[in-house]
Amino acid sequence: MTKHTISSVRAGLLSKEFSAVELTRQALSFAEAENPKTNAYLSFSPERALAAAERVDARIAAGEDPGALGGVPVAVKDVILTKGLKTTCASKLLENFIAPYDATAIERIEAAGGVIIGKTNCDEFAMGSSNENSAFGPVRNPVALDRVPGGSSGGSAAVVAQGTAVVSLGSDTGGSIRQPASFCGIVGVTPTYGRVSRYGLVAFASSLDHIGPFARNTRDAATLLEVMAGRDPKDATSAEAPVPSYAASMTGNVKGLKIGIPVEYMKHATGETADLVNASFRKLQAMGCELREISLPNTDYAIDTYYIICTAEASSNLARYDGVRYTTRSQNSGTLSDLYKNTRGEGFGAEVKRRIMLGTYVLSHGYYDAYYKKAQMVRNLITQDFNKAFTEVDAIVAPVSPFPAFKLGEKVNDPISMYLSDIYTITGSLAGIPCMSTPCGNTSEGLPVGLQILCKHFGEETMFRLADAFENS
Ligand code: GLN
Repeated sequence: MTKHTISSVRAGLLSKEFSAVELTRQALSFAEAENPKTNAYLSFSPERALAAAERVDARIAAGEDPGALGGVPVAVKDVILTKGLKTTCASKLLENFIAPYDATAIERIEAAGGVIIGKTNCDEFAMGSSNENSAFGPVRNPVALDRVPGGSSGGSAAVVAQGTAVVSLGSDTGGSIRQPASFCGIVGVTPTYGRVSRYGLVAFASSLDHIGPFARNTRDAATLLEVMAGRDPKDATSAEAPVPSYAASMTGNVKGLKIGIPVEYMKHATGETADLVNASFRKLQAMGCELREISLPNTDYAIDTYYIICTAEASSNLARYDGVRYTTRSQNSGTLSDLYKNTRGEGFGAEVKRRIMLGTYVLSHGYYDAYYKKAQMVRNLITQDFNKAFTEVDAIVAPVSPFPAFKLGEKVNDPISMYLSDIYTITGSLAGIPCMSTPCGNTSEGLPVGLQILCKHFGEETMFRLADAFENS
């Protein structure tokens, strides 16, 4: 199980080395046995998984293709709706919520033969950078169990690193796929905004939310993205742009590719993270890429901009959890307004409350122009920085995080320092461009470090070409 990739699953199924049902049984029992070490899964879905596996076996028996994800065990972050299964958002408030329909991404994965084996832990409503904000306990990093796996999609990164799923889905609003991928030593992809439908992704900050894949190599991540990508009438922000064959783009040849290194990012990078990222730059050069320094001058405003926009949107999106619909209900509610207050007061964790309060403040009467509107204008400047850079270069490379996985508990009482851990990932999220983390080595303590690759809107093919060549060089 641990060593499987999408192509090894396919080869095993087609050569009858194992059936999809056998592989699914094995995957479920291995994942259940390993889970106490990391707490990465919140629930398993054996019935649904076995039913999906039976369909794959039936296709093979009928001489049909098993599908691009035929028989592949997939884990799903618990902020993505899966019909008939719990979708808790790692919140006490939604601890008993059963999703009434499937997210479009889930429908597409199952149509391609993927087998959903369980739902993964994360920061509550995807707010956090360490997975310590889960109402169901933190996730431990399988690479070093005393460390965080990153967040907010910490569980989805951990299960792929641990080998208890072949691929998984995460969500990224400001770095929640790339940062945990870098902390756990795997590949994590945030596609272009609009590339994957958000239908069925529980909203945190709608203008920034993305669904994206985790995998142990670029090819698997690209395959999973290709299955999910494309226009969905149920999400008006999903893009019409045709979905290319990502596999065809991975030629191994990156000679002459122009790569930008943003000076603003490298000035914060220190220690072994900087050493490994700098070594990656030299490797890219040796592979025939042309490296040059570029400037993204509005980078310094990214964190402030992000925390205004995401809190404003979160305060509005989370208003629906009022104790009347969806959620557990406070027992302590005489009047309607007590019901609202007590349900929310008892149900939300501290970080979610902090964001709702900040967001309500920045949207309050008289402050809208000063905060939310201004932040949107600065966001536009940050996007223009990237657009300008991409007239000169084909891709940008940078660190993912200023430091590798930190110890559990190390930053929980310092929200500002936690917010700063997303300094390199937030800019790409604000601009809505595709970006990913690919492993670029380990520190002397054995902690993985990720290299970030960013490309222009809908430039996933170049991003995958570079990442795949880098991974195999
Ligand atoms: N760590 C960032 C935050 O706490 C990003 C979260 C995310 O991308 N979902 O908001």
